Amino acid sequence: MKDQSNHAFVIEGKMALPYQYFAGAVGSKFIVALRDEKKILGVRCEHCNKTWVPPRQTCEHCFAPLTDHWVEVQPAGVVTNFTVVRYAEPYQPQEPPYVLALIKLDGADSALTHLLDCGDIQNARIGMRVRAVFSDTPKDNILNIARFIPE
Ligand SMILES: [Zn+2]
Repeated sequence: MKDQSNHAFVIEGKMALPYQYFAGAVGSKFIVALRDEKKILGVRCEHCNKTWVPPRQTCEHCFAPLTDHWVEVQPAGVVTNFTVVRYAEPYQPQEPPYVLALIKLDGADSALTHLLDCGDIQNARIGMRVRAVFSDTPKDNILNIARFIPE
């Protein structure tokens, strides 16, 4: 054990922390529309006219509440940025290396983060047009979109 005589009272330990994540009313409506209708929904701010995907309860531009004005956006858009994941972690959707991209869907003003399958990871480019491939297996999460591929 390190000499901690000059530090505040410290106890080292590990905690197991079981939990459940709830997507909330807005996130749940988004996931259910993906799962049951293969539709990608956003919410439009009536104050500043921005459409947020994934939807949020509050406009991050003007802070207005956003839960009333749902819009369907296109399942295609443009890669605005990306990264290559090269390490493995539990609960990752696939084995590395793979590309995680920020994708601004047509009709949205924000970007959605998702898997980009462009064959070789070297093919990923900012500005490339991509489209969603929906999963054949219903899920209760964002992976109702299995991945995005080049148009
Ligand atoms: Zn706004």
